[in-house]
Amino acid sequence: MLAAKSPSTPLGILAAIVVVTLGTGIAGALETIAEPVSLGIVFIPGVLLIATVWGLWMGIGTAVLSALVFNFFFLPPLRTFTINAQHDIVALVVFVIVAAAGGTLAELARARAAESERRREEADRALEEAAALAAERDRMREEAIEADAVRRSDELKTSLLRSVSHDLRTPLTAIIAAGAALDSPSVTAAERHELSDAVVDEGQRLARLVENLLDVSRLEAGRAEPHREPVELGDLLAAARESIGPDGERVRLSLDQDLPSLRADPTQLERAFANLLENAVVHGEGQPVLVRSRLVGPRLVVRVVDQGPGIPENLRERIFEPFYRVPGAASAGGSGLGLAIARGFIEANGGEVEVESLPGQGSSFVVTFAAPTRPAVPFSDPSGKRNSPA
Ligand code: ADP
Repeated sequence: MLAAKSPSTPLGILAAIVVVTLGTGIAGALETIAEPVSLGIVFIPGVLLIATVWGLWMGIGTAVLSALVFNFFFLPPLRTFTINAQHDIVALVVFVIVAAAGGTLAELARARAAESERRREEADRALEEAAALAAERDRMREEAIEADAVRRSDELKTSLLRSVSHDLRTPLTAIIAAGAALDSPSVTAAERHELSDAVVDEGQRLARLVENLLDVSRLEAGRAEPHREPVELGDLLAAARESIGPDGERVRLSLDQDLPSLRADPTQLERAFANLLENAVVHGEGQPVLVRSRLVGPRLVVRVVDQGPGIPENLRERIFEPFYRVPGAASAGGSGLGLAIARGFIEANGGEVEVESLPGQGSSFVVTFAAPTRPAVPFSDPSGKRNSPA
């Protein structure tokens, strides 16, 4: 209840005079019914009040003033400041003790109040600082996340550029070297033939790379709209096998009878399956590659199975990322785009692709489409419209 700071001193002096005057009045009124010596008690509350509110020194001042007034008005010889009896001393001592006790207690309480006020301010300040720190930390975290995203996209661009420029430079260097050698008079007819083959091969590799890059950028930009039409899976897989050239001889097709046809973009799906077949042959360690297709419940499932080294579990999603190549794996000189394109085209046509693999025993790329509800017979609708389901 005490204010942390005592009220002003002049006010204290005034209050001391008032309480001593009041005490004197009360003592005067009681003079006739009480012993003069016991009238001193009347001053004690005043001393206590001043000491409590204005502190120790003001309390002692009031105590001394009270003792003087008490001595002057109530202790014989009256109307003099003579100290001639023991009770004069006792009164003074009692007043001073009361003043000292009240003042000290009040000071203590005041100090405690000031201390708790200070602590509260400190706690408030600490809370404010903690809030500011938390805000700063959040801001820094956001900045770090942004910086990380920028760094990763920069890293991606750098690795993409490095990969593309390497993949472009290799065939270009070969073509330039072969072209220069072709002009040399010392080249035999057989060598010339070999050099011109190299020019054509490397040129085709470049063309494939450029085509792949265009496909990936179209897929990433969502601009690979499929031109859907009824597609027979058997025809599609045969065309894909054909498109990979002599490698296709290792591929065995095994299709269930009466598979329903799909509504899909045949060019896109042929590319997708050609990429899966090419990978299976390249990584298949010379073993045959089996392509099985069957209806499983409501789904049309195509499996491309090889007997290669398999794919470690932690890489089974990464291999579908553009430009990702398994370090140290056999390579067809690809740029890590084949599977990204395959997945992009399969998904654009409503399908899914994932890989199952037993490391050391081979991989199985599983492509799934929602099967049409009935076998499609194109152009059989009397209205002239195609009746194959979407
Ligand atoms: P690329 O066009 O360079 O072949 P892909 O995107 O087709 O790239 O494949 C990415 C990586 O996945 C390759 O580096 C290869 O190591 C791995 N991979 C793809 N198919 C197979 C497979 N059938 N068996 C083992 N590894 C494979």
